[in-house]
Amino acid sequence: MFKILKSIKNIFVHIRSSLKIVLMIVIPAIIIVGIISIFYKPTYSVTLNGEFIGYTDDKNKVQKEVNEYMKGIQTENIAFIDIETLPEYSLCFVKRQNIDNSEEILSKIKQLGTTYYNYYAILLKDETKYYVPTKEDAEAIIDKLKEKDSNNIKDVAYTEIYNTEQQTFTAQDEVVEALYEKKPVYVPTYSNYYSYTIASAKVDLGIDLIKPIASGYTITSRFGQRSSGNHGGLDIAAPAGTPIHAAAAGTVVVSGWSNVGYGNHIIISHENGVQTLYGHCSALYVSAGQYVEQGEVIGAVGTTGNSSGNHLHLEIRANGSRLNPQYYLY
Ligand SMILES: [Zn+2]
Repeated sequence: MFKILKSIKNIFVHIRSSLKIVLMIVIPAIIIVGIISIFYKPTYSVTLNGEFIGYTDDKNKVQKEVNEYMKGIQTENIAFIDIETLPEYSLCFVKRQNIDNSEEILSKIKQLGTTYYNYYAILLKDETKYYVPTKEDAEAIIDKLKEKDSNNIKDVAYTEIYNTEQQTFTAQDEVVEALYEKKPVYVPTYSNYYSYTIASAKVDLGIDLIKPIASGYTITSRFGQRSSGNHGGLDIAAPAGTPIHAAAAGTVVVSGWSNVGYGNHIIISHENGVQTLYGHCSALYVSAGQYVEQGEVIGAVGTTGNSSGNHLHLEIRANGSRLNPQYYLY
């Protein structure tokens, strides 16, 4: 019985000495770890394309920000971010004061990554003039130029751009103001109108003409050869003041006095390069640059200029030639 008690006592003594050894190792270890953890912290070292870019203690937060940045959520006009390889994270212990924040890591990733931008270029005659951030801006500019009836509207266009260059954008109204072009005021060049040759062949005009004054009046001089020289038009006698109607719709290019014998005359430019001329008028009711409809009263018969009685001198011109009006009218 005593033997048993003695051996139990021996076991306790043995345990106590073992415990002493354990405490001698564990306590200093805890103290050492405690001291280390005051100055050092478990951290992730972040590398991108093999280059060290910083430390973070929250790699999930950094990765989330990188993902959002790559989706282009954070900045306007960024189409996408191309980073050749994703950042790599490895656990390490670093001195507490060395811990970078994730914003700095993100800015380094931005520098190393390639950013692709998406925006729109406004073109004039296929040449880039301005940049705007959205398609809506580009379309609004085109619409506004159309509304203002800009002369160059056919030359203005836009195109979508994807590239690594960010551009400075110009405000919509500024672009509209800069590109707007007034319609030119028509300045007739008189010399061109009187150099037309007299053609004998009938030419298809491609437009329909109506009689400028009613039928039934006497034709006093036909087109072509006559004793006094070539006659480039058709003369129809009519009382002074008889209304003259536009033979077709078009733009009045001349309405005024002629120095070459037509007196008060009107020239209208029609489609297909066809022109009609009305000479010796007593009154002119239209002016240069004005658009007239077919049949609109433009002037009145008279005997102004090189004329010996009230009549309409009518000419039809196309492709640089004066054509016989009786191929088409009367
Ligand atoms: Zn004549």
